[in-house]
Amino acid sequence: MDIQVLGVGEAADPSFANSSLIVAAGGFRLMIDCGHSVPPVLWREMPDPDAIDALYFTHHHPDHCFGLVPALIRWTDDRRSKPLDIVTTAGGWKQLALLFQAGATDPDRSLSFPLRWVETPEDGTLGPFRLRTAPTRHSMPNRAIRLEAGGVAFAYSGDGRATPESEALFRGADLLFHECLTVEADPTQPFHAAHGQLADYPTRLGVRAMRLYHVRMGERERLAAACAADPRVLLARPGERIVLTPQVPAPGAV
Ligand SMILES: [Zn+2]
Repeated sequence: MDIQVLGVGEAADPSFANSSLIVAAGGFRLMIDCGHSVPPVLWREMPDPDAIDALYFTHHHPDHCFGLVPALIRWTDDRRSKPLDIVTTAGGWKQLALLFQAGATDPDRSLSFPLRWVETPEDGTLGPFRLRTAPTRHSMPNRAIRLEAGGVAFAYSGDGRATPESEALFRGADLLFHECLTVEADPTQPFHAAHGQLADYPTRLGVRAMRLYHVRMGERERLAAACAADPRVLLARPGERIVLTPQVPAPGAV
């Protein structure tokens, strides 16, 4: 499994594109979230209009979905013909329909390729992946995602504080990307996660490695210092590529 990070920024970050990445396995590419500042990065990093097989939306705030229509228009200009699966909730699909309307784009007539709506499963499959989801605590419904293929597990939180369900989803993941707005929990931000709430995941949940993203402007340096205590927890970096391979059992392990 191969992870390519497009963006790591918070909602209105002047320095970093909105948080988004691409997960690839067996020649299938799933893109997670497509916020308003993501399309130019996508066009630079992945110019092939057929490169993405499916898009997953964790939720539908502008920094997670407002890049959708521009991305589809570019792929149409570049003559994409391959169908695109859009994995989201029923409510999310309705919200995306409003985006199409606002952009004067009819998904059935304006695009050079068909869109296929796939309702977000709690436990299902997509391409080569087993795909599971769970809610976080956010200001609108947000579903964290876990993808398993080739003996490895990758998880991505979307936005929001952890819930018992999301922590169960993350348990034992080889790599977890988690939203982390601040170092300490901010009482004025009850729907965002903080380092202090996540730092014990490698030990408590058996997560092998973590990347933190969607960090508040001006907080990255403090957060990097807080992360220095555990080499398993790092700040996510734009452009980073991570290849996940199955963990080799320690010598003598049963
Ligand atoms: Zn959000």
